Amino acid sequence: MEVKSKPLRLCIACGTQRSKKEMIRIVKSKDSVIGLDPTGRAAGRGAYICKDTNCIQKAEKNKALDRSFKMKVQKETYLKLTEEMKELSE
Ligand SMILES: [Zn+2]
Repeated sequence: MEVKSKPLRLCIACGTQRSKKEMIRIVKSKDSVIGLDPTGRAAGRGAYICKDTNCIQKAEKNKALDRSFKMKVQKETYLKLTEEMKELSE
């Protein structure tokens, strides 16, 4: 029997496909501020990543966010995202 497929998203860091519920959206606002978007509804350009700080580190290593948002993403931004991710998983 065929199960109706849920919308899948691709993690920008590890390339794993997961359902939207298992991912977290990262958003770049129009003034180029990057942050986590737990609601998934914030305005701006979005990218999906696993709910896992390891994937933030991976994204930093392979500059996944730089590519997704077509800008230079600072180390501080990755640190901030890591902190935000920790808070979310607590
Ligand atoms: Zn991932």
